[in-house]
Amino acid sequence: MASESEKYKQITRQIEAWFSKTARDLPWRSDDYPWGRLVSEFMAQQTQIARVAQRWPEMMQRFPTPTSMAEADEQDVLSLWQGLGYYRRAKHLKQAAETIVNDFGGTVPSEVQELLKLPGIGKYTAGAIASMAFSKREPLVDANVHRVLCRLWNHNGESVPSPWTWEKAEELVSQCHSPKIFNEGLMEFGATVCAKKPSCTECPLNKQCSAFASDSQFDIPMLKQATKKKQMFHYAVVIKHDGELAFEQRGESGLWAGMWQVPSIDSEVALSENEVLQQLKIRGPLKPLGSFEHLLSHRSISFTVFSCNGSQERSYSWFKEHEVIGLPLASAQRKVLALHCTA
Ligand code: SF4
Repeated sequence: MASESEKYKQITRQIEAWFSKTARDLPWRSDDYPWGRLVSEFMAQQTQIARVAQRWPEMMQRFPTPTSMAEADEQDVLSLWQGLGYYRRAKHLKQAAETIVNDFGGTVPSEVQELLKLPGIGKYTAGAIASMAFSKREPLVDANVHRVLCRLWNHNGESVPSPWTWEKAEELVSQCHSPKIFNEGLMEFGATVCAKKPSCTECPLNKQCSAFASDSQFDIPMLKQATKKKQMFHYAVVIKHDGELAFEQRGESGLWAGMWQVPSIDSEVALSENEVLQQLKIRGPLKPLGSFEHLLSHRSISFTVFSCNGSQERSYSWFKEHEVIGLPLASAQRKVLALHCTA
């Protein structure tokens, strides 16, 4: 059995060698442009890498520098973010671009302590940008890295991430040859080889892995049971008048902040059609178009969609159907409009 310091060294060498041979071809890896890395990290926070890889080039073409995004209208950033979900990230990215321009002369800072001053950047993202864009010897822990480290040391690892995994990541990155290759390799290794269902027989680290040695790799980490999703209700009414549709913009905070929607009500309880009419202050009558369930990380939202004709007392913004495509709409809103189009 290797000593602890020998184990660190073997793990870093193996991960670096494995990643140098197998790294996926992702567009932001072709150069070390810090702004490109930062944008990719924001986009990847809760979106699958394959999807981010499809959308990142378009984002960089429209906003090639922090200044170009800082000077843009927030609605332009939200429009380009459509389909990626969790729109708060787009707002944070825009605010981070403004902070880079106002406080760092338009250049992405390289130190973790400075990166942590940017909106939307926490310890993981700061470590990722510092190590991958600037080759700083900084650790990072995301859910994939947490899982790999817990298994390598057969550690329970109930909470993600934990001080224990950050300590291990720090020790490893202090011993690696290239922090950029090691950190990115460790994340990719967790996403592809030491995934939830690990590929232990093909794993280059199986001789160093304590969980594999004790056949406990499928039980580690022992994550706490996910809490049940909160059930919410959303009532949307597609109102048509003189060939135009009524829209409203959501508030500046909360779910889908700043995005556009047809007149809608969010509710914690189920509502009758009459209650929908009363709360929206519209005359009706309502015609049911359909319903669907929209799942988010902590809540499940039951959408019920109606249509209704005629001008209404309440004032809305009115758009011709072909103009709607230019509005920042969350993916759930697109499903609402799809029900209207197929009605
Ligand atoms: Fe993960 Fe299995 Fe490799 Fe251990 S042997 S690091 S559990 S893939």
